[in-house]
Amino acid sequence: MIEAKIVLQPDREKPVRNQHPWVFSRAIQSVNGAPQMGDVVTLVNEKGKFLARGYWNENSQIQLRLLTWQDEAITEAWWRSRIERALIARLSDPERLNNPRAAYRAINAENDFLPGLVIDVYANFAVLQALTAGIDARKDMLARLFNDVYNELVDHPLRGVFERSDVDARSKEGLKSANGVLIGDAPPDKIEIHEATGIDDGEVRYFVDVQRGHKTGFYLDQRENRALAAHAVANALIPPEDGIRMLNLFSYTGGFGIAGLYGAAQASEKAGTIVNVDASNDALELADENYKLTFDGRSEFDYTKQYELIQADVFDYLRDQVTERQKYDVIVCDPPKFAHNAGQVDRAARGYKDLNLQCFKLMNEGGLMMTFSCSGAISRDLFQKIVFGALADSGRQGQILTQLGAGNDHPVALTFPEGEYLKGLLLRVY
Ligand code: SAH
Repeated sequence: MIEAKIVLQPDREKPVRNQHPWVFSRAIQSVNGAPQMGDVVTLVNEKGKFLARGYWNENSQIQLRLLTWQDEAITEAWWRSRIERALIARLSDPERLNNPRAAYRAINAENDFLPGLVIDVYANFAVLQALTAGIDARKDMLARLFNDVYNELVDHPLRGVFERSDVDARSKEGLKSANGVLIGDAPPDKIEIHEATGIDDGEVRYFVDVQRGHKTGFYLDQRENRALAAHAVANALIPPEDGIRMLNLFSYTGGFGIAGLYGAAQASEKAGTIVNVDASNDALELADENYKLTFDGRSEFDYTKQYELIQADVFDYLRDQVTERQKYDVIVCDPPKFAHNAGQVDRAARGYKDLNLQCFKLMNEGGLMMTFSCSGAISRDLFQKIVFGALADSGRQGQILTQLGAGNDHPVALTFPEGEYLKGLLLRVY
């Protein structure tokens, strides 16, 4: 089959030469041939010189996603070697290589030079997300290649690869949602995963519902921040007499709140109280099971009295807490994405500011706050300015202890700044 040739506008070569993986329709001068959705095409300049190769989707604003800047064929072996390279990088961490309950992002789309392809590992299942037509067209092959490569590298084999392609981004590609088994067995309702806390050899345990949970089931991008939360609660606070009080806002299935209780129990015999707030009852029910899974049978204290699960709208809940003059030693604030595009940035900024302002009002002197934004449209700089604005309005003092981002299984390609969506701050507040 002869690959179609896509001719780039002459003044649009710079980002391509800089290896940005996206080519927008407005940068394209002409199309020679009749490429179908997902087909591999060659990008040339107006003189016909080779620039790059990628896959095509006429229905998307990003008509071309680039796979290589070398004049090489995109064969099955090519896809396999890219997958292998990404997985080997993850498995250089023995915690992932040897732990049959590990959970991590194995393929991070554009950031692993595989545009549109996400694959997450949860113990002995992998979950694939096809974000683009080019990946959708090849997802069975990609699932098979991933399964083969994984089973060659790891001595606890995968039981199956499940698809969770139910994201809004697909509609921009002209694709519908698609969920289901790609290879092997269907995943159980709950997959048990273990995360290191960084405290001794301690770990926290979570059930993940990969068929119905958010994203591919869990917020893997917060793993290192959950461990940092456990560590900070254990080591960066003088525990008050009656134990540490922590507020975990937008708790989902308990993530930070379970890590927090782990740290609090380490810090003092009186572990204190962890209050988890989320709008979703299903998420809170799973959080309850996750507390049991982590602490049942191995805690010296009655952990059941040390956490609360509150179904509420966080904005309403915070206002009530401020009115009641409640105070917390630790607050984690990890809201959903407020800005889905550049047009929503102003509104989102007001949302983040309000949220952080209420949090500052609730902080005890010397307490710790972890605050996040996962909106790609809000830069790290802007987020810090918003948090600063909230601090100023609250009349409190704050220090940045650590800049936070996603863990190293969510690399950001230097050529693709859009890949850095999660940003956060660990603050001490006076
Ligand atoms: N911190 C979590 C992930 C948070 S995801 C972790 O590490 O696992 C965002 C969560 O916010 C979702 O569980 C969603 O149900 C919840 N949510 C969204 N809007 C909300 C609101 N206004 N009030 C309460 N919860 C909300």
